Amino acid sequence: MATETPNRPWLITHARLATLGDDPGLIEDGALLVQGAHIAALGTSTELTTRYPAPERWDAAGQLVLPASMCAHTHFYGAFARGMAIPGEPAANFPQILERLWWRLDKALTLEDVRYSALVCLVDAIRHGTTTLIDHHASPNSIEGSLDVIAEAVQEAGLRASLCYEVTDRDGPERARAGIAENVRFAKSANQQISKSPTSNLQLPTSNLQPPISNLQLPTSNLQSPISSSFGLHASLTLSDETLADCVASAGEAGLGFHIHVAEDQADQEDSLSKSGRRVVHRLHDAGILGPRTVAAHCVHVDGPEIALLAETGTWVTHQPRSNMNNGVGVAPVEAMLRAGVNVALGNDGFSNQMFAEMKAAYLVHKLWQRDPRAMPGDLVVRLAYAHNARLARVFWPDLRLGELREGAAADLVFLDYSPTTPLMAGNLPWHLLFGLEASAITATVCAGRVLMRDRRLLTLDEEAITARSRELAAAVWDRVSRGTVV
Ligand SMILES: [Zn+2]
Repeated sequence: MATETPNRPWLITHARLATLGDDPGLIEDGALLVQGAHIAALGTSTELTTRYPAPERWDAAGQLVLPASMCAHTHFYGAFARGMAIPGEPAANFPQILERLWWRLDKALTLEDVRYSALVCLVDAIRHGTTTLIDHHASPNSIEGSLDVIAEAVQEAGLRASLCYEVTDRDGPERARAGIAENVRFAKSANQQISKSPTSNLQLPTSNLQPPISNLQLPTSNLQSPISSSFGLHASLTLSDETLADCVASAGEAGLGFHIHVAEDQADQEDSLSKSGRRVVHRLHDAGILGPRTVAAHCVHVDGPEIALLAETGTWVTHQPRSNMNNGVGVAPVEAMLRAGVNVALGNDGFSNQMFAEMKAAYLVHKLWQRDPRAMPGDLVVRLAYAHNARLARVFWPDLRLGELREGAAADLVFLDYSPTTPLMAGNLPWHLLFGLEASAITATVCAGRVLMRDRRLLTLDEEAITARSRELAAAVWDRVSRGTVV
């Protein structure tokens, strides 16, 4: 049974609710009333079953329920890289990784590849309870319409994403112009779009249904689109002053902020200094790129004045420690940025959408880097992953409250089959998240009040069919990459 009545409330009972938010709490034997896309009430099971005696119920049977995860920077287009042989000698540095892996892979993608690469990531996101994703896309031989293809996949999945196309000069002026056009075209269509209403497809007996509860005070954004947009730029090292100026003019007309890689590797700084005599953050600031609606991914190699400028402009920085370690580019000065007042959020740069794993990497790498076990404490990691990511999400969905369980917040939830062997309290939840919880504990995912996975079974996407087709398409992409048939 798929219930196509989005405003009928339903009740989760017998859950351990970890609320997070400003005043984090743990409600034992908790209950949570969902109406439409939002959390309508929160309390103990006894309280809520008394107050709301008849809505459809979902007995969580003691599972831990958390706000769903969010990802501040990702690349759906990178999914086919998993296990791909890279022709030639192993890449010795970051520019070679770009040239030998990513700039070969992205050129080989057709629109169907773009669709399935996104679907693979969306299956992974649902499986890992990550419901809001900020994506950065590249497919230089299939630019026009590529963001529509991804948006359709996101809506099919029932998730929420902000999309952009990365403009770059690396593939010549025609493709740079096409990238600009795709950002502008998509932003206009995304603005006009009214979401298909999020609907509950909770599979429950129909015997205890009742009419909607009419006196609940909830936000009116039930029909808010799950799709948002920004203006994508690759990185300073592949963008001329002229292209940056064109992008600023086009983004300004469309009312968009930017999403760009910044100082991911020292090579970006060297390029900027030789091109402009300025460091990357200053070059981008002078071009008009920074600001509170701009996402600067990585910022591994930024100095004190650059950090001050990021803070002053309210620019968002995203941290992706798994990617930084994999590329051997260094560790971002996250704590220094936070102390300076920079907004820092947590992304995954195309690694799995298992944000618990990204949190663990962040928790560990800063301690090793600083050789100080006090570095990057667990509660700070959790704050980045939830409170900060939720605040970044409001750049794209201003009315949404994510990352916490409270009345009026989005009903974005993840259920975990977690029976800890030590006491679990609101105060020590971060360390349970970092040392106890594994992705295998995730059994259910809800986005905007819609159940996307229950009992580990996906309800919106056909995982088997997606996997089978993706395997065929990925093999063909690998073949094109290895034969060097795409330019
Ligand atoms: Zn990236």
